[in-house]
Amino acid sequence: MDGKIIDGKEISRQIKEEVKQEVEQLKAEGCTPGLAVILVGNDPASASYVGSKERTVQALGMHSEVIRMDEATSEAKLLGEIRRLNDDPAIHGILVQLPLPDQIDEQRIISEIAPEKDVDGFHPVNAGKLMAGLPGFVPCTPLGIMVMLERSGVVLEGKHAVVVGRSNIVGKPMSMLLLQKNATVTVCHSRTADLPSITKQADILVAAVGREGMIGGEHVKEGAVVIDVGINRGTDGKLHGDVDFDAVLPIASKITPVPGGVGPMTIAMLMANTLESARNACRQNG
Ligand code: NDP
Repeated sequence: MDGKIIDGKEISRQIKEEVKQEVEQLKAEGCTPGLAVILVGNDPASASYVGSKERTVQALGMHSEVIRMDEATSEAKLLGEIRRLNDDPAIHGILVQLPLPDQIDEQRIISEIAPEKDVDGFHPVNAGKLMAGLPGFVPCTPLGIMVMLERSGVVLEGKHAVVVGRSNIVGKPMSMLLLQKNATVTVCHSRTADLPSITKQADILVAAVGREGMIGGEHVKEGAVVIDVGINRGTDGKLHGDVDFDAVLPIASKITPVPGGVGPMTIAMLMANTLESARNACRQNG
């Protein structure tokens, strides 16, 4: 089993350690990376994600600002907060925790964040840069998957990668990153006909759907690398992926568990993106 299960916790620990060392170096040059996180409302899952981001930022020696806004906050007020953070030189990354309450247009909010502080990589400018192969911020989850694949020694060039899911935050950027590394990429979605016949061709299979255990043994080719992005709260109260782990484990050559796979990588890459933003800003000014 050794080496078969990709340990996202361990790889994320390494990334965070590397970020921490670089933060110290940057601080010695007089620049402290800063991340601002805005939380609107009282959703417990969102509050818990924001809490763990705040703790990680602090643990890595960066400056953290968490702005908690009322559930009834207007779009105008939130836009004002983003503009203030855009102009604040102590802040290098701005993240608005999604989802937002119904009265607020998510796309409008994301588009207001200065692209050079958009460490989530959701701004249309950064999405466009990824598409064009230009440097910019890449969404943390697919970026973290690329790091996991690389550090696990998975070769992508010439391989068939199948991505199930086409969201703007996971599936689409994932497919672009795999393409950049010279994989042959197929993207599947809810209207894909005969999904197993396509996923079964995959050398690398990424499941980013949000349906517990939907990828079973019949979806996977012998020896495939299987990356499970799904986070689903099961009836047992525990977290489950999109992949039926027990069924796929004997077939795959490598597989990520849930929890402890892709999840921890996302937050590590947020830290890496914030560091990069600070480096860009401080070296430009210094
Ligand atoms: P979305 O709901 O935005 O997208 C889901 C995608 O899955 C859509 O493209 C949808 O297709 C597709 N889909 C739905 N049903 C099927 C089906 N039966 N067969 C094939 N494709 C299907 O989700 P996200 O991309 O935001 O997230 C996906 C999962 O990843 C969720 O469980 C989420 O919690 C998790 N996640 C985990 C993260 C982490 O850090 N580990 C970070 C972000 C997300 P269509 O476009 O046609 O509707």
